[in-house]
Amino acid sequence: VSPSRSAVALTWVVRCATCGYETAPEELRWRCACSGLLDLYGPAIDPTPKAGAPWSLWRYGAALAPVALQGAGKVTMGEGMSPLVPAPADRSVGTSTRVWLKLDYLMPTLSFKDRGAAVLIAAAAARGVARLVADSSGNAGHAVAAYAARAGIGAEVFVPKGTSASKVAAMRRFGADVRVVDGSRQDAAVAAMQRVEETDAFYASHVYQPLFVHGTKTFAYEVWEQSAGRFPATVVIGCGNGTLLLGAARGFASLAQAGLIDRVPKLVAVQSERCAPLLGRTPHGRTAAEGIAIASPPRRDQIVEAVRSSSGEIITAAEADLLPARRELAAYGIDVEPTASAVWAAFGAWARRPEAFEEGPVVVALCGAGAKSPGDLPRLS
Ligand SMILES: *Cc1c(COP(=O)(O)O)cnc(C)c1O
Ligand SMILES: [Zn+2]
Repeated sequence: VSPSRSAVALTWVVRCATCGYETAPEELRWRCACSGLLDLYGPAIDPTPKAGAPWSLWRYGAALAPVALQGAGKVTMGEGMSPLVPAPADRSVGTSTRVWLKLDYLMPTLSFKDRGAAVLIAAAAARGVARLVADSSGNAGHAVAAYAARAGIGAEVFVPKGTSASKVAAMRRFGADVRVVDGSRQDAAVAAMQRVEETDAFYASHVYQPLFVHGTKTFAYEVWEQSAGRFPATVVIGCGNGTLLLGAARGFASLAQAGLIDRVPKLVAVQSERCAPLLGRTPHGRTAAEGIAIASPPRRDQIVEAVRSSSGEIITAAEADLLPARRELAAYGIDVEPTASAVWAAFGAWARRPEAFEEGPVVVALCGAGAKSPGDLPRLS
């Protein structure tokens, strides 16, 4: 079943990828009773914004589940509508721009996670959720803590030891109870799930909640709206749990479904050379690209299938290239955290191949701001 087909249903429905169980998005379920992953399917809707639509991702409200739209007013901080600008190299090429940077770190909490958090927490607010639990390697917790504060929902966030101090401090400023787990990213997720079982808090997981990926599909709608006449042939996205990549894949598929684009762009997923489970490799050592260092992503098969069905590929960033890539972008006024400079580093190697631009322009997503990671690169133990 092609993604463009499977994304279509007669009405909004959440479906288990394993057993086919169906439930309404209003139920806010994060996982099926059979432990299968849940995904949100909806009618094929043309996302073209109406005149006077809000200047935020809510402009694509027609293509968002009603339960999220109902809570939008309680949470919105203008998230989305990130700039699409020419990349440094194109200043010297002198021909029409081939490489565009989507500055998806220009968001209320300085990462793309605001797309998913805004939509997920809007739905939670609409359903009267009072307390939520989340787990994160940093940016998702930062975004969820902010939107929970905005909606007046109490938040408890589990993070692994070693999470950037500046991200933990930001979560605490938003009033979240941050629990630093003495263990891995996976241990933090297990601790959060246990807490959800003990209490009956809402599990605001960016990895499992189908409404989070539903929010990130607005990335694709924006790229489409911003690049009339020069729609990209390829989109390069950093990938850990795949929430942006899967959302983008959904968004592009629905644009194709609505007849607004001829062809879905190739999706190029970037991982760290030290943590590339999408290539079947065993993680080794630590990487400064903390936001994509996910050893065992639950949606791995879905990510690999989304990349494959777009005729895309999975590439890696060398650890030694992260700092030079950060400096190269900064020399052009763009300061990103190492997780995002990893994407620029891997793209640099990819772009040197003669055939790289044969099919058309490339959009490179830069998703985390440099202010989140002061100093050149965090020291690794
Ligand atoms: C979370 C994050 C990623 C990776 O997103 P996934 O959903 O885990 O694939 C990439 N870049 C930045 C800056 C992030 O915060
Ligand atoms: Zn199931």
